[in-house]
Amino acid sequence: MLRLMKAKIRLYVEHPLSDGQAVDLSRDQAHYLFGVMRLAQGAFVTLFNGRDGAWTAEVEQAGKRGGTLRCVTQSAPQKNPPDLWLCFAPIKKARTDFIVEKAVEMGASRIVPVQTDFTNSERIRQDRLQAHAVEAAEQCGATFVPEVAELVKFDRFLHDFPATRRVMFCDEAEVGAARALGDAPQGPWAILIGPEGGFSPSERTRLHGMDQAHVVSLGPRILRADTAAVAALTIWQMALGDW
Ligand code: SAM
Repeated sequence: MLRLMKAKIRLYVEHPLSDGQAVDLSRDQAHYLFGVMRLAQGAFVTLFNGRDGAWTAEVEQAGKRGGTLRCVTQSAPQKNPPDLWLCFAPIKKARTDFIVEKAVEMGASRIVPVQTDFTNSERIRQDRLQAHAVEAAEQCGATFVPEVAELVKFDRFLHDFPATRRVMFCDEAEVGAARALGDAPQGPWAILIGPEGGFSPSERTRLHGMDQAHVVSLGPRILRADTAAVAALTIWQMALGDW
């Protein structure tokens, strides 16, 4: 049983996971486990797929181009984060990666890049950001991996925004004002963070006009967008989330 405890390496797989389930590895996964991490037959790995919790699995076959693991025991139940979207205007690549990583670690259930008037980047690599989210989940012990949506224009974002979902609108124009979440209700939420250039006046007017918008200040100083994302996630989780 002691060897089971050593399944420190966590690997996200698309495969269903259950007692005795065999899981074939992709070439990249085999390279990571057997080439980089130097695991061999008989070693244990923690697998998760975002739906079935975490499973301790034993290496049955280890090869350069593939391999097979078999689920031995469930090591953690599936734990989903609160129904919280982190919506943000993409900024420079490394800092956008940072926002995605923190959103996973801090418990967002969906990550929505929004192209606002002053957003610098015209496009994002959704597949790369999704892989980044998987990596963050592998590292932080999560059993859930949020979807990173495709970049959506602000108009479309507001048009499609569900009427039953509230939005914590982090408005830099409210800097220093005593605008907090207060006794906001539980339920489906989103956090919205603007780009380095902030929200445009027309965007601000539309957001302030949304019934389900809760305008908040993130303190007396202007935060960088990535700092603002972490601050907003912290405030929301402490007030309404699963912390
Ligand atoms: N260019 C803007 C300016 O100088 O006023 C700053 C934008 S800030 C770098 C990026 C985003 O972080 C803002 O759009 C807002 O969503 C959030 N943010 C930063 N500081 C904030 C604060 N004190 N209160 C509310 N939101 C803030």
